[in-house]
Amino acid sequence: MQVLNTIAELRAARAGISNLGLVPTMGYLHEGHLSLVARAKAECDAVAVSIFVNPTQFGPNEDLARYPRDLPRDLSLLDAAGADLVFTPEASEIYPPGFDTKVEVSGVTDVLEGAVRPGHFAGVATVVAKLFNIVQPTRAYFGQKDAQQSVVIRKMARDLNLPVEVVVAATVREPDGLALSSRNSYLTPPQRAVAPTIFRALSAARDLFNAGERDAEALREAMRRIITAEPQMQVDYVSVADPTTLHELTTVGRDALASMAVRLGATRLIDNMRLFSRTP
Ligand code: AMP
Repeated sequence: MQVLNTIAELRAARAGISNLGLVPTMGYLHEGHLSLVARAKAECDAVAVSIFVNPTQFGPNEDLARYPRDLPRDLSLLDAAGADLVFTPEASEIYPPGFDTKVEVSGVTDVLEGAVRPGHFAGVATVVAKLFNIVQPTRAYFGQKDAQQSVVIRKMARDLNLPVEVVVAATVREPDGLALSSRNSYLTPPQRAVAPTIFRALSAARDLFNAGERDAEALREAMRRIITAEPQMQVDYVSVADPTTLHELTTVGRDALASMAVRLGATRLIDNMRLFSRTP
C-alpha cells in the first residue's frame, strides 16, 4: 500500500492502472468505509482511498475542528483491507492560495441536508470533482448512508459528463440498527443507548409502507412520533421524498426515500431507508 500526500505523487502512483476504484472518505474509518473498499476491490484492478477532512463542506458552527481523526489507525485498517493507494493531502494541497472555483449542483441541494447546511453540498461537489480529476478513477464508491450526497454526486457526474461510474453501496449498521458513522464517537453512553431510535423510526415507516400505507404524511408522522417520544432527541427534519428529485411526496408510488436528521445533544445524526413496493 502506498500513502501519497501530494497530487503529483498520487498521479505518478496512479499511472498504469486502468480500472481504478476510488473511495473518498474523511477518515476515522469504520466497517461502513471498509465495505466500500471491499466492493471496490471486488470490481476494480486496484483501489485508491482518499482521507481528507474537507473544510469547505463544514459550516462555520459545525464540527470541523473536533472532527475525529486517527491516521495511523486508518492506515492499518486500509492495509489490512487491501487498499493499494491512500491519498492524504493537506488542505493547502487541495485549496492552494488563489483557489476560486465552486461546483454547485442545483435543485437536489435545496432540500433536506442542503436546506439545513447551506454551502455543504457545494463543498462536497467541489472536492469530489477535484478528487475525480486528480485520481481519475473508473468507478467511485459512496454509501447509501449519505443518500442525498450520492444523489448530488450522481447528478454532478451526469451533468458534467465526468467519465466515472458512481456506485452507491448499502448502509452498514451496528447490531442494534444504528448506522455506522465517524460521528457516533461523539455520543455519550446514554445518547448511544437511545440512538437506535432512528433506525426504529425508519423501520416503522418501512413496515407501514409494506403493510400498504401510501400516504407520505402518515409515514412522516409515524417516524416523528417515535423520535419525539425520546426526550433526548430533537428532529431537524423527517422526510418521505422521491429518491431521484428529493421532492417531498404526497402519495408514495413504487418507491421513496425515507430519511431524517436528528440531534442528540450536540451531535447531529442522519439516516435513511429506501421504501420499495413489492407489487407492480
Ligand atoms: P465520510 O468519511 O463520513 O465522509 O464517509 C465516506 C463514505 O463512506 C461516504 O460515501 C459515506 O456515505 C460512506 N459511509 C459512511 N458511513 C457508512 C455506513 N454506515 N455504511 C456504508 N457507507 C458509509
